Amino acid sequence: MTTPTTATNHTLFLSPQDIAAMVSRTGLATTLQGLARYIHQDFLRWKSFDKSARLAAHSPDGVIELMPIADASTYTFKYVNGHPKNTARGLSTVMAFGVLADVASGFPLLISELTLTTALRTAATSAVAARALARPNSRVMALIGNGAQSEFQALAFHHLVGISEIRLFDVDLQATAKLLRNLQNNPDAAGLRLVVCSSTAEAVRGSDIVTTVTADKTNATILTPDMLEPGMHINGVGGDCPGKTELHADVLRAASVFVEYEPQTRIEGDLQQMDDSFAVTELWQVLCGQAVGRARTDQITLFDSVGFAMEDFSALRYVHDLARSLHIGNPIPLIPELDNPKDLYQLIRPVSAPVMDKLASQATPAVTA
Ligand code: NAD
Repeated sequence: MTTPTTATNHTLFLSPQDIAAMVSRTGLATTLQGLARYIHQDFLRWKSFDKSARLAAHSPDGVIELMPIADASTYTFKYVNGHPKNTARGLSTVMAFGVLADVASGFPLLISELTLTTALRTAATSAVAARALARPNSRVMALIGNGAQSEFQALAFHHLVGISEIRLFDVDLQATAKLLRNLQNNPDAAGLRLVVCSSTAEAVRGSDIVTTVTADKTNATILTPDMLEPGMHINGVGGDCPGKTELHADVLRAASVFVEYEPQTRIEGDLQQMDDSFAVTELWQVLCGQAVGRARTDQITLFDSVGFAMEDFSALRYVHDLARSLHIGNPIPLIPELDNPKDLYQLIRPVSAPVMDKLASQATPAVTA
């Protein structure tokens, strides 16, 4: 866990380049495994967290969200957006950063990029859920949506779940071409067969697992009930905001549905299409052995992922621990260092004032009768 600090410490800053350097030195598969381990461990101590659904500020083209969470010793929050039209203007759909702070003092120990880290933690979370819910002999996955998150999903399922064939589809052929460029002849994807498909239905046919990771601010129906096959596991990642879904409501009806934090998923997940009487199971209950995940090989399981603050808590813990062991990152003076913590004004005091102070302290104290 995080080592408490004193108020005189600097805050560690991790840039996207720092996170990339950490992944490169650690290896992508090991990084994903490490993240999955931290996430799994934190799910196992679910009740020790002070949890809330994220705070969202909606606008016509997107959403900006704050995701706070704490346990007894560590507080974290993530700032994240979701703007599907951003890519047309050269910006990412999802951009994020986050803070990890010491609960005992409130001191921010770490401020980190979380755009790259979110892709890694989302993929690791998908793998944690699939390991608990998919058929253990799953080898073929459909990957619908080949944008920024997709390579991370592909590699997490390859290394952590044992997927050896991925069937790709995106409405944007350039996105699929980009994924192929990134993963073909890439040692991280050795042994992974990539098959380009011309429709979602073609990609899904014969797949053990279906990952939907598309971005469109609409109630889309990427996956329809006629595409389902007995025993499939669906990893629904892209439906994560009110008015932004990917699955036909009958897909949810045909499946056993698992969620991260039910109060948040009811607002944001594909679950928003169902009324409150529709039963779901929180993933931590399955991981802790308090609820059954997959009961039959022909059962359809669905992880309705929206991204929960605890996964970012785990990710921030992970990158903080790794950065310190690899000596990566830069300490920054985010919080003022003060000789006298009650004298904040010293930071803006005119330069001549210390001289006056000195004179005043040297003056003979006035004697009062
Ligand atoms: P992106 O914009 O980079 O890529 C999305 C891709 O989806 C694009 O290539 C687009 O062409 C494709 N697409 C859109 N409609 C499609 C359709 N009908 N069929 C096939 N492909 C389609 O976005 P990204 O960063 O990869 O994120 C993808 C989604 O995942 C977003 O909705 C984002 O909000 C969500 N997300 C969820 C989590 C989570 O924890 N659940 C975390 C990160 C991102």
